[in-house]
Amino acid sequence: MGKKTWSKKPIEWKDGKNVFLSIVFSWDLPKMRERIIDLSSEGYQVHAGGPAVKLNPSYLEDIAFCNEQEIPSLWRHNPNATFTSRGCIRKCKFCAVPTIEGNLVELDDWPVRPIICDNNLLACSRIHFDSVVDNLKSISGIDFNQGLDARLLTKYHAERLAELDCLVRLAWDDIAYENSFRRAYQLLREAGFPANKIQAYVLIGYKDTPEDALYRLQEIWKTKSFPNPMRYQPLNALKKNEFVGDAWTEAELRKYMKYWSRLFWYNVRFGISFEDFDYLKKKVKNG
Ligand code: SF4
Repeated sequence: MGKKTWSKKPIEWKDGKNVFLSIVFSWDLPKMRERIIDLSSEGYQVHAGGPAVKLNPSYLEDIAFCNEQEIPSLWRHNPNATFTSRGCIRKCKFCAVPTIEGNLVELDDWPVRPIICDNNLLACSRIHFDSVVDNLKSISGIDFNQGLDARLLTKYHAERLAELDCLVRLAWDDIAYENSFRRAYQLLREAGFPANKIQAYVLIGYKDTPEDALYRLQEIWKTKSFPNPMRYQPLNALKKNEFVGDAWTEAELRKYMKYWSRLFWYNVRFGISFEDFDYLKKKVKNG
């Protein structure tokens, strides 16, 4: 199974007259509401769960059983994904994890798979972290998919992670964390990670400005690591990309997302700078 097999849509499965829905993104809720009405009219009992349902607890509760005991469904979204811990020690306001998962819990037993979806693996105990690395040594193509907390990354973490065949992702969500980000990045490089094995999530459009977002994106790209822009979405948004922060315009957000999420294509392949990039232009012609 390839690793690029994340399902972008809600997952649905049946067990007799019961239908289960796992919904990740809140903007899928209106469509799922219609789906539940259809399923109910066919005589099914619908059970809905997942992050979107937890963040909008009343949206479906009149037509479905919501947020019952959690039904493991991560593998249905991606068969190569796993958790070794849930929750987080932090409470970042833009993040759904504190609301839907709560405090950090280390799992004793977890399927060894290459895509690690822990929210904050580095906040786990040394014993847990070591056991995760030791277990992952038997497989290749590992991806710490949810990012590693730069503020917690130590030389020890970096050196142990370098024992794995893996891609690591940091996050630089706020200009205030520049020192932490640069320190963590440097530790990873010193431990032997090439630039192309480090990526960085960059939150844009939250409380930042276009200038500070551009600085973070460009500074990461100067290292030859790929930044991965993430447009801020309110936690219970019923429509995607509707929120525009005070310092931004919709056009700026679109330009940033289009260019920086296709950086290889625009910058490496066609040599177009961000400043010269026309986000409304449909096609880029070779030569
Ligand atoms: S550290 Fe990461 S997972 Fe934890 S609350 Fe902040 S953004 Fe969410």
